[in-house]
Amino acid sequence: MLAAVLKDFNNLVLEEILAPKPGTNEVVIRVKACGICATDYKAIKGIRTNVAFPFIAGHEASGIVTAVGSGVSHVKEGDEVICQPSGYCGLCEHCRAGNTHYCDRAFTTGGDGPDDVRPGAFAEFMKTDAKCVLAKPAGISFEAAALTEPLSGAWKGVIQYSEMHVGDDVVIIGVGGIGLLCLMVARAAGAGHLIAIDTSAYARGKAMTLGATAAIDPRQGDAREKVYEIIPHGPDLIVEAAGPIEAVRLMADLRRRGTRWNVFGITTHEVFELDGGLTHFLEGRMDASFGTTPLAMQKAIRLMERGLVDPEKIVTHRFALADIQEAIDVMGRKDRNKVIINP
Ligand SMILES: [Zn+2]
Ligand SMILES: [Zn+2]
Repeated sequence: MLAAVLKDFNNLVLEEILAPKPGTNEVVIRVKACGICATDYKAIKGIRTNVAFPFIAGHEASGIVTAVGSGVSHVKEGDEVICQPSGYCGLCEHCRAGNTHYCDRAFTTGGDGPDDVRPGAFAEFMKTDAKCVLAKPAGISFEAAALTEPLSGAWKGVIQYSEMHVGDDVVIIGVGGIGLLCLMVARAAGAGHLIAIDTSAYARGKAMTLGATAAIDPRQGDAREKVYEIIPHGPDLIVEAAGPIEAVRLMADLRRRGTRWNVFGITTHEVFELDGGLTHFLEGRMDASFGTTPLAMQKAIRLMERGLVDPEKIVTHRFALADIQEAIDVMGRKDRNKVIINP
């Protein structure tokens, strides 16, 4: 099969390798679509260094089952499926509590996080654990289905962890791919004011077409003043989906009493300071959220199935696997959202 193998940083090579065969409780999928995530881009460019070579990246995948190992009963050859990239044992204490993303024996197919990293979906075929394969409803395209994992992360952060309520005034800081998914989830959940903050004019424009009620450039004047002009009582919920530490600091600065805030986008180890007494008297409720769970994956599928969120709206580029280099170049540009590989 054709696969994009990362041999070293900045050395992504297209080559023919042996297609995987399923072991017990494993499923092999003919990949139809796979989103390129920032973590893939960072691995390829050497921006994140926790990569063991050779590595096949790509963890936002959908496809068709081509083979199942013994013990697999919920899917069969020919089924259209969605892949949950974060594997889990289902038996440890964390898994039993529903926190499969804390699993003692966690693995990822093509992603980042656990020590056990298995080949991902920038290839014609991929193999994973049967538990990580979910049925794709017929009405959902393979490309939308490939974005189940990031959409599930947005649902988990905004709805499950930060408990957004209908009518809440919500601020999303950073409206790239994942921020736009948070925005669409908040809109589907009945946000009141829905304010997008981003330094990119392209991103702000996109946010406005997808349901933001206002968009603010944090580099033009005082972002706090602008937010409080629109919602004088301040936000009920702020979600940082940007990454840079400045975005986290801005989030802390935007709080009023009782604001819930979610440290969602930053993954680098940078420090920000909080005033203890102020945090006490603000009764601030800080959440954070990473990864996904089977529950969140199911909810994301339901949002798509019922037409509440269509993640295909954030897809701006599509490339064949043979053109993955071009796709990686597009990832470095500002005027793009989700880039999809169709192996
Ligand atoms: Zn991802
Ligand atoms: Zn476990």
